[in-house]
Amino acid sequence: MVEHAQAAHDGWRILPATQRAELLIRAAAIMRRRRDELAAWEIFEEGKSWHEADADVAEAIDFCEFYAREMVRLGRPKRLGHEPGEVNHLVYAPRGVAAVIAPWNFPLAIPTGMTAAALVTGNTVLLKPSERSPLMGLLLGEIFQEAGVPAGVLHVIPGGPEIGQALVEHPDVQTIAFTGSKTVGLNILAQAARVDSRQRAVKHAVVEMGGKNAIIVDESADLDEAVTGVVASFTGYQGQKCSACSRAIVLEAVHDLFLDRLKEAVLSLAIGPAEDPGNRIGPVIDARAQATIQQYIEVGKREGRLIVERRMAGPGFFVGPVVLADIQPGHRVAQEEIFGPVLAVMKARDFDEALRLANSTSYALTGGVYSRSPKNLLAARERFAAGNLYINRGITGALVSRQPFGGYRLSGVGADYLQQFMVARVISENTLRRGFAPPE
Ligand code: NAD
Repeated sequence: MVEHAQAAHDGWRILPATQRAELLIRAAAIMRRRRDELAAWEIFEEGKSWHEADADVAEAIDFCEFYAREMVRLGRPKRLGHEPGEVNHLVYAPRGVAAVIAPWNFPLAIPTGMTAAALVTGNTVLLKPSERSPLMGLLLGEIFQEAGVPAGVLHVIPGGPEIGQALVEHPDVQTIAFTGSKTVGLNILAQAARVDSRQRAVKHAVVEMGGKNAIIVDESADLDEAVTGVVASFTGYQGQKCSACSRAIVLEAVHDLFLDRLKEAVLSLAIGPAEDPGNRIGPVIDARAQATIQQYIEVGKREGRLIVERRMAGPGFFVGPVVLADIQPGHRVAQEEIFGPVLAVMKARDFDEALRLANSTSYALTGGVYSRSPKNLLAARERFAAGNLYINRGITGALVSRQPFGGYRLSGVGADYLQQFMVARVISENTLRRGFAPPE
């Protein structure tokens, strides 16, 4: 497959960027036509609620539309400087064969975003969907095929870590676009740094990883809004979002009142099979995830105080939601990404301490503040370590182009995404006349 992708690269690379952009626009149109069907598959394969499944398909459509337009802009050579007798052009060129290694939790949007970015910039792509969402990967391949991707340009390879590893190590894979956990992402970065004697380029790994995201609630916050925002952010898709809230940092003055209201709100959530549109909370992805989350809940009960634990019998891998209070910054449930509906509540004396707690992990993905104090909001803008900071709203559901998504610290390399798939080249020509060339 790598050989095929390599062979197809020359033909794909030389197409004008506008033609590759049109392919993405056609893919978006197909997704729009199949929107309900794609969402339905997400409900069955990943246990997404109706609303979340539809939002994921909508985001996939947005990625295609957005990267198409971005590439048309980047595809035009940019003139640098205006000295007479010289023309300098900055142009972007694709890197070559790209491996896309995707997670399962946004089973259409994330693979679509990474694949569309790699394709539109002129790379050929080997897409490995997660072993937990192979069907959505297959459907995405089908959609790009129908949109007219030429033979050899996109390959969908179902499989698990061993396929991912083989792609990362392959000497002819030049770019690795990965979204997933911190452990795997950091391993990929290390592996990509090793140079094989058959390699002809330095591998470039674009890794987007996890989070341990916090929402601060201060004494001036509208508590109704804060409770709603925290509940939606920690329970949406059962907490299985990189952007999910997993820590609520609440100022002493409103801490107990907030906890009481939070408990009531969690008790009122409709839990049950995702196929039923009346349910807000469905099962987690599989038995492995359920067991891991359950273990963290037990750890959290020892580290802190259980406020509420919802339980639901199967069939289906149900767990939580759970709220724990009195959590300290050194506790495991305050530091490790759980990837389930488990919220650690921490108490802070003042806003400075709240910010210190918020910043006390190795992640910096999303964060939120509920406050009506201009002074506190300014402090949060300046000092809250989060790639995406949300003020007086929930912290999930970033929209393409309006809230470009990505973290820093050990959450990822968050940067202008399309440029990651290209090399910048500068062509500098002396334009002082030196006679005419004979006609060709
Ligand atoms: P994961 O790291 O277990 O798997 C991600 C992908 O990597 C899968 O396709 C998997 O098969 C593959 N993989 C696993 N081991 C590999 C290896 N050794 N070499 C190469 N590939 C390998 O993550 P997941 O469970 O699928 O997804 C959940 C994680 O993703 C969470 O940590 C979440 O925060 C993160 N995430 C981050 C973002 C973001 O934008 N930052 C978005 C969604 C999810």
